[in-house]
Amino acid sequence: MPDPATIVAHPAPGRACGACTLCCKVYDVPAVESVAGQWCCHTKAGRGCAIHATRPDHCRAFHCLWMTESWLGPEWKPERAKMVLSLDPTSRNMNVQVDPGQPNAWKREPYYGQLKRWAAASVALKRHVLVHLDKATTVVLPDRDVALGILTPDDRIVVRERMGPGGPTFEVEAIRAA
Ligand code: SF4
Ligand code: SF4
Repeated sequence: MPDPATIVAHPAPGRACGACTLCCKVYDVPAVESVAGQWCCHTKAGRGCAIHATRPDHCRAFHCLWMTESWLGPEWKPERAKMVLSLDPTSRNMNVQVDPGQPNAWKREPYYGQLKRWAAASVALKRHVLVHLDKATTVVLPDRDVALGILTPDDRIVVRERMGPGGPTFEVEAIRAA
């Protein structure tokens, strides 16, 4: 999972966080000792950040994919979807950070079907759709989902395509950092 502060993007016209605060729950924010899976102590439920004017750069820089991409419909707003989408600026993997209060949110429709379509479109580009629940990662593939457990930032995910009698199949391996 990348440091969200490394994702530099700007909100699309008309997009605003409003009552959503989900990114204040699902990510680590070391500057305020906030741990992924628990609300940051500065979160004001449904109203935003109690230290908005002086919030860390980490928070200031982050805009989720719903904020930057106007083609994502209202159902993808994180407070409704119960997951926060972001694109890794280096690998271009899509990271789906799920609200641990609703760990199966990504398996609901219309979300799961769309994640599968993104996975099918991304795999040939060697980009992947990764679902994170706290620090545990699952790779969404066109034909199945592969739970890899807890990865460190230095671990790598390798997906290999093989041709079978019914068409391409995929193998996933986590390469653990030494
Ligand atoms: S998850 Fe997205 S919409 Fe929600 S508060 Fe964070 S940046 Fe705003
Ligand atoms: S400091 Fe504010 S913006 Fe940053 S995680 Fe905490 S509540 Fe959210």
